[in-house]
Amino acid sequence: MHTDLVAALDIGGTKIAGALVDGQGRILVRAQRPTPAEADGDTVMRSVEAVLGELAASPLWGRASAVGIGSAGPVDASAGTVSPVNVPGWRDYPLVAGVRAATGGLPVELIGDGVAITAAEHWQGAARGHDNALCMVVSTGVGGGLVLGGRLHPGPTGNTGHIGHISVDLDGDPCPCGSRGCVERIASGPNIARRALANGWLPGPDGDTSAAAVAAAARAGDPVAVASFTRAARALAAGIAATATLVEIDIAVVGGGVGKAGEVLFAPLRQALTEYATLSFVRRLVVAPARMGTDAGLVGAAAAALTLRTDPAAAGV
Ligand SMILES: [Zn+2]
Repeated sequence: MHTDLVAALDIGGTKIAGALVDGQGRILVRAQRPTPAEADGDTVMRSVEAVLGELAASPLWGRASAVGIGSAGPVDASAGTVSPVNVPGWRDYPLVAGVRAATGGLPVELIGDGVAITAAEHWQGAARGHDNALCMVVSTGVGGGLVLGGRLHPGPTGNTGHIGHISVDLDGDPCPCGSRGCVERIASGPNIARRALANGWLPGPDGDTSAAAVAAAARAGDPVAVASFTRAARALAAGIAATATLVEIDIAVVGGGVGKAGEVLFAPLRQALTEYATLSFVRRLVVAPARMGTDAGLVGAAAAALTLRTDPAAAGV
């Protein structure tokens, strides 16, 4: 029997996506359900089981040898549990055991969603060919992951690269995580929009106050919108420079909705990096936009499962 496929799950606060993925990262079968984010934990799990059940109905299911999960965090890969901030019914929820039971005992690899995106960008995207990379998702929150020495580095609990909660402003605003001045508190989409509005930016006639609307205003030259993106870019640059100085990355890949803002983000980001990444071994650091699209979470989860299958010693579960 061929076992050349893996099943992948991408679990977030709004949707649970699943796929059967081949060894080249091609998605052959898809399934998706909305996340019943306000429901109790077992109800959320039934939606995961429904996605797996839809995949299992495919004639290709018998070729799946493992399951990779990229989940909103925090996750605890060592315990096989998840506690996504946006899914309150799941606190230390035994997701790995549930998925293993639902799939007849297939091996399961769990990683955080930022780590999954990193795996995808390293396998097929902007970090391909880079042995030491930081990949970031800048959207509603700020997440990330690291590739070190040519390998994905999930860390003991699957959360390595959580750059959104590095403090870059010692006396900055309190962050929901409990710290203050975090990268996310300055650079996430909602915080870019919040700061622009607080400083007098007025939305257009459509009333759109999203970060994408602030980006459009910045491209049109609105100085308050430009300033809010510049502030976000400086926070990202400080976090990236700290990471590069600690572990010698040579590329930082920035994706997510805010990453799509283009030069209103990347121009001040590159400028700020010249101020913060100053030591000889980090000056060559480059910043690049992400290349993987909305399937990055699924492709990265599949990459983690394929690694488990071919190199069990590298697996965290
Ligand atoms: Zn924080």
